[in-house]
Amino acid sequence: MIKCTVCLAENDDFSTTCIRCKAFLQDRVPNLNLFETSWQVIESPSKAFRKIALAEHKNYVLFLFSVLGVSLAFTAFWYLRLGTRFESLLDLIPAAVGIGVILGLVSAFIVTGVYHLLAKTMGGMMGFRGSLGVLGYSMTPVAFSLALILPIELLTFGMYLFTGNPHPYVMKPVSYVLLLGFDALIAAWTLALAVAGTKVGHRLSILKSMIVVFVTLGLFMGGMVFAAFQFRLIDHV
Ligand SMILES: [Zn+2]
Repeated sequence: MIKCTVCLAENDDFSTTCIRCKAFLQDRVPNLNLFETSWQVIESPSKAFRKIALAEHKNYVLFLFSVLGVSLAFTAFWYLRLGTRFESLLDLIPAAVGIGVILGLVSAFIVTGVYHLLAKTMGGMMGFRGSLGVLGYSMTPVAFSLALILPIELLTFGMYLFTGNPHPYVMKPVSYVLLLGFDALIAAWTLALAVAGTKVGHRLSILKSMIVVFVTLGLFMGGMVFAAFQFRLIDHV
């Protein structure tokens, strides 16, 4: 709550003018700058998510979801060894990027829909676009990993990362474990940011924020596995 200094009315944390006397409470945030906001998400998440919740336009959110989609597509290609279906990296990379962008844009609305519903059930305060903004900007570490770690993985293992023949672990065990470790760290960081963003944006307790994020994640992963079976990407268990 923000108390108006003029009339002492209690206002919502994210109001810019007083509901009673229209006095100025805090600066408007009309737009979000991708690099500035991403950097702030890394440096001081609470401040960043406050600004994201306050912003009138949640700029670059769909771009950040596309980044998540591309990252998930590469992960699926690795995990399901889909490399055997492609001639070379030159065929595989555009396919993974294309599928990833579509997956990212579709999941932006489905995942945010589920997340938003759960947050509201728990007593969350933000609107749908706020939820979209918080989840989108939680993907900042994923964007970082896609720009820095994926190229290293591709340069180190090439097609073997996606065919598993020979298995990349057999080729360079230290690099493989190190790079997988980095990816796990990125995933954990992303989830921690989503929880922090939920707490700040929806003004929920840390426990409720964790429940919202982890149930959303569980349903999303379940949906992905189901889709993989439907498209016959997994033939056996
Ligand atoms: Zn006032």
